[in-house]
Amino acid sequence: MPSLAYIGLGSNLDDPRGHVERAIAELDGLPLTRLTATSRRYASRPVGPQDQPDFINAVARVETRLSPLALLDQLQALEQRHARVRRRHWGPRTLDLDLLLYDDRRLEHPRLRLPHPELAARAFVVVPLHELAPRLELPGFGPVAALPAWQSAGDLRALLPER
Ligand code: AMP
Repeated sequence: MPSLAYIGLGSNLDDPRGHVERAIAELDGLPLTRLTATSRRYASRPVGPQDQPDFINAVARVETRLSPLALLDQLQALEQRHARVRRRHWGPRTLDLDLLLYDDRRLEHPRLRLPHPELAARAFVVVPLHELAPRLELPGFGPVAALPAWQSAGDLRALLPER
């Protein structure tokens, strides 16, 4: 049986929408992995320094036969292919991929924490995740519909589909 994973995508540099759309297509091309759903795309204000462009965010669901760390390797390689630029912590970036959830796995590994530790606090992750799985229970955090991030959900803006 394949595992079910949720991946958060974000970009705020060099045509962010284009990076997110291409990355979603590329997730479907990863080895032993199939894209099964994507959320709407959202615009959000950056976390941290405010003197940078808005982020475009989305969440994707995949079925995969890769292990959690092998999937993380693939996500990091994909980030690299988007010529990710990180000049400062929480600064602008061409593509950020976070492994949010992998089945109901909890993991504390030096390279990989599951569920993703910031997940519950970030509306730009929780809102699109809820769109894909409204009744989801997050190991250690509870129902996706009742996470702290909903308090700031009003700051998110859903974007129209690209034509
Ligand atoms: P960032 O660039 O801020 O997304 O952080 C990337 C670093 O976080 C990398 O060194 C990863 O190994 C580590 N990391 C820990 N848990 C996760 C996760 N669930 N998803 C993605 N990166 C993670």
